[in-house]
Amino acid sequence: MSLLTDYHTHNALCHHASGHPADYARHAESLGLAEFGASDHNPSPTLKDDWRMNVEMLDVYLEQVAEAREAVQIPVRLGMECDFLVGEEASLDWLEAYADWDYLIGSVHYLDRDWAVDDPRLVEKITLHGVNETWDRYLACYIAMIKSKRFDFVGHPDLVKKFGHMPKDNLDRYFEPVIDALVSVDGCFEINTAGWHKACAEQYPHMRFLELAGQAGLPIVISSDAHSPRDVGRDFDRALDMAKNAGIKHLARFDKRQRRLIEIV
Ligand SMILES: [Zn+2]
Ligand SMILES: [Zn+2]
Repeated sequence: MSLLTDYHTHNALCHHASGHPADYARHAESLGLAEFGASDHNPSPTLKDDWRMNVEMLDVYLEQVAEAREAVQIPVRLGMECDFLVGEEASLDWLEAYADWDYLIGSVHYLDRDWAVDDPRLVEKITLHGVNETWDRYLACYIAMIKSKRFDFVGHPDLVKKFGHMPKDNLDRYFEPVIDALVSVDGCFEINTAGWHKACAEQYPHMRFLELAGQAGLPIVISSDAHSPRDVGRDFDRALDMAKNAGIKHLARFDKRQRRLIEIV
C-alpha cells in the first residue's frame, strides 16, 4: 500500500456521501497509503443537480481539507472532481483560479445538460439511444475532455458501462482513440475500483482498455471514488495487480499541479 495514493474521494458536502475529509484521511493513513487527496464533486454556477457541493460551501471545503492536513501525518492533497461538458469548458475557469489545487480530476458524467449516464433514473435512455451510440457519445466527450488539457488526470474512463451496457462489437474501436488522445497530451487516467461494486461488476476501465494504456506507456492513479471513509483504498491490492498485468509501469502523484512518476516495482 505504501506505493499507492487515493486521490478520488468525496465527502458530505456533495449531499450523497458521508464523512469529513479528515475521516477519509485517517482511514487512508491507517491503511498505509502514501498520500491522500480530497476531490469532491465541483460546485458549479451552471449545473443544477442534487449531487455536488453548493458554490457557497467551497470555502468550507477548503477549510475542511486544511483540517484533514492537521489530522494525519501523510500528505493531504487538495483536489476537485470536475464535470466536463462539451461547449461549457469556460465554466470551470473561475474554479481553477479559486484555490491552490494539487490536482483537478476531469470526469464525464453528462452527455448533455439533461443526461448524466450514471444516473439510475435515466438508465432507459441508454436502451433508447442504443448501447453503441451511447458509448460513442460518451467517449467523444471524454476525448474532448482529454484534449482540453485542463485536468491532471481523468476519472472512470468507461463509466458509461456502469449499469452493465457493453457494446457487442470490437472494444478496441472505442478504446484506441481515447488512448491516442491521452498519449497526445502526455495524460494520465485512473483505475477506479468503485466499478466492482456497481452493476457492471468490474473496475473502470475495462482490462483491455488498461492493456492499451500499458502498451502506450501511460501512467495511472488508482482511486476508490469513496463516498464513505471506510471505502478509501478499497480493492487497491487487486487493482495494483491488474495494473501490473496490463503492463502499467508508473503511478502518478500530484503536488501543486506538478506531476511526479513513481515506478511500480
Ligand atoms: Zn458522487
Ligand atoms: Zn465521477
